[in-house]
Amino acid sequence: MKQIKNVDVAILGGGVAGTTLALTLCLYSKLTVAVIEQTTYETIRVGENVSASLLPLLDYLQIKESFLADNHKPVYNISAVWGHSSLNSRASLFSQFGEGYLLDRGQFDCMLAKQVVHKGGKLFLETKCQEGEHLEGGGWRLFLNHSSGQSFSLESRYLVDATGRQSRIAKRLGAKSLISDSLVGITAFLDFGKHKPNTEEILIESIPEGWWYSAWLPNGKLSVVLITDVDIMRQQQLHKEYQWSCLLSKAYHTSNRTRGGMLDDSLVVKPAHSHILDHAVGDDWIVVGDAAAAFDPLSSMGIGHAMTSGSHAAVALIEHLNNHKDGLLKEYQSGLERNFESYLRMRQMYYEMEKRWIEAPFWKRRTQLTPIPVGAK
Ligand SMILES: Cc1cc2nc3c(=O)[nH]c(=O)nc-3n(C[C@H](O)[C@H](O)[C@H](O)COP(=O)(O)OP(=O)(O)OC[C@H]3O[C@@H](n4cnc5c(N)ncnc54)[C@H](O)[C@@H]3O)c2cc1C
Repeated sequence: MKQIKNVDVAILGGGVAGTTLALTLCLYSKLTVAVIEQTTYETIRVGENVSASLLPLLDYLQIKESFLADNHKPVYNISAVWGHSSLNSRASLFSQFGEGYLLDRGQFDCMLAKQVVHKGGKLFLETKCQEGEHLEGGGWRLFLNHSSGQSFSLESRYLVDATGRQSRIAKRLGAKSLISDSLVGITAFLDFGKHKPNTEEILIESIPEGWWYSAWLPNGKLSVVLITDVDIMRQQQLHKEYQWSCLLSKAYHTSNRTRGGMLDDSLVVKPAHSHILDHAVGDDWIVVGDAAAAFDPLSSMGIGHAMTSGSHAAVALIEHLNNHKDGLLKEYQSGLERNFESYLRMRQMYYEMEKRWIEAPFWKRRTQLTPIPVGAK
């Protein structure tokens, strides 16, 4: 088996969290990094609404100018049908919304990955980690598989799980995910050809089964997402086009803006539950992004959190690997917990604003949430 030159930090997952971590290490240390990503960034990525509070981080990563020159769309207006049947236009539903951007998500994630390479990091695309072993005396040997069938191994001093919401690597290393719900997002992309209607950019509309989110993407398509619980989706077969469309037709404002649109591809079902790991830092591993903590899409916190956690973890790793100090790693863990606790309070507050269907299971679950024991190991 071919052996790749050792690196200081191996990052599994090249989403926004993993590439932000890699880029921070490349820019602000001499540590060597490798990012292992299973896709080529051509597959569909969901989640695109970010707050303008991301801009200082992009500046820190030295990519703000290229971001502003790319095909992302400023958002000035968000409308919500939430708590009553009328349309309420305002700058934000959650405070994070504000004047932000709608990302061309594939382009954004790919741009971050290219920057890692540009700044000296290694990037292995279409590559998955098959197995890993902890080396005697510390560090890791990873066995990697390229989609062509080629296998190779890579040794690193430190391992990062940036694989997204399922936290597959961290769970194998003994971390437990404290899950507070079973939310899923069922997304369709609608194509209107040359007839894109002139309506507001983002619309949120609550229904007894959950809520709809729709947004005009920079590529001219309308992204329409049904957010519900996995058991409701299964009972009502809402992952199937016909049932999904029937439910859509009952959401007055959302269905109005979808009229004339053609489904571009099949529906995309993604987990959207909130969770946090009981511990995200081990002896020589750390977890970032959705893998460490993930949020309800209502908050639009996911991308911002993923990138911030990536850069904070990188700074903590620089201190740990160069100066053998653990203070920032401990701060990283407690920061995750503080952030998640305040997120849970905010989430409850926004769900409690909707009182029309308090007896419907989706809403009942959200107004009678049991706080999950963050920090309990
Ligand atoms: C329906 C829905 C709507 C959302 N809307 C928004 C929104 O409007 N705004 C917002 O901020 N957030 C939103 N989010 C959340 C946002 O998409 C995530 O928070 C963000 O993508 C997390 O980034 P990440 O890098 O941690 O994980 P991911 O983006 O999931 O990236 C993980 C990467 O790891 C790779 N990977 C996984 N396993 C392996 C493996 N074994 N080997 C190699 N590579 C691997 C994957 O291919 C992927 O590239 C939404 C989420 C959902 C589900």
